[in-house]
Amino acid sequence: MKIIRTARSMTAWSERLRREGVIIGFVPTMGALHDGHRSLIRAARLRCDALVVSIFVNPAQFSPTEDLTTYPRPIVRDRALCREEGVDVCFEPTARGMYPEGFQTTVTVPALARRWEGEARPQHFSGVATVVTKLFGIVHPHLALFGQKDYQQAALVRQLVNDLNLAVSIQVRPTIRERNGLAMSSRNAYLSPDERRIAPMLSQALRTGRQMIVGGVNDVAAIERTMRQTIEQTPAIHVEYLAVCDPNSLEPLSVVTDRAVLLGAVRIGSIRLIDNLLVKMPGRKSRASPQYS
Ligand code: AMP
Repeated sequence: MKIIRTARSMTAWSERLRREGVIIGFVPTMGALHDGHRSLIRAARLRCDALVVSIFVNPAQFSPTEDLTTYPRPIVRDRALCREEGVDVCFEPTARGMYPEGFQTTVTVPALARRWEGEARPQHFSGVATVVTKLFGIVHPHLALFGQKDYQQAALVRQLVNDLNLAVSIQVRPTIRERNGLAMSSRNAYLSPDERRIAPMLSQALRTGRQMIVGGVNDVAAIERTMRQTIEQTPAIHVEYLAVCDPNSLEPLSVVTDRAVLLGAVRIGSIRLIDNLLVKMPGRKSRASPQYS
């Protein structure tokens, strides 16, 4: 496996392969890789000839009060996982390389970034949209894979690729969870044993919401109330939002008529956890979500 650190070498590598007709797959990450990342890497491996994983803790998507400096960076272990999974290139740019002096441009996707994570983390999605656009420009992949775990992020990436006519196809893969339902996340490493025990309540609340919808309840206020009550049984968990939304626009619904996405964010101590579930009203014709293939 090659480790590449500069944009120039990365692009040269990709362009050479593209000229030979090689299909390039790409999984962008911030490292601290776990089985969620591994599933994206494996899915990409099946769909392409050459595979690039980027590891870059992107300063632009952290606010000054967030965990940029303490974000886990187990680079040796991450490279080992990439090697194990047959990754061809680990792209590890520096912050200076990505944002040299004089850097000015930002990409924003205002409507999709307005609510939920965007409200809680005001600069977050412009940081994400900008770095993803840059990474696509540098790596020039045919295919890039993202996790449903970060539902709003995946929706935003699809939107920007479409709006900016970027020649990359996007695939979104299901969330990988612990056996107790907790969505895997690099930030789970921050949880103490006690916090880890209660963290699965978020996914449990979302499952309760999904069961209500599958059972025929379409009143969003009732669903949100029940989800909230499920979590509020555990006083150490603070609910930031629990919402039933349109799966494409992410606007809140008042009644579920077809498909919905249940979005949730909680805080346990100083740690924020997010999760989501897609759900379809019973009796509707099954069709793939336009958002998620
Ligand atoms: P991150 O390193 O957190 O920026 O995540 C890199 C990619 O991995 C993103 O597309 C995430 O949505 C995806 N990802 C993170 N956690 C999971 C998970 N539990 N299951 C599936 N994909 C995930």
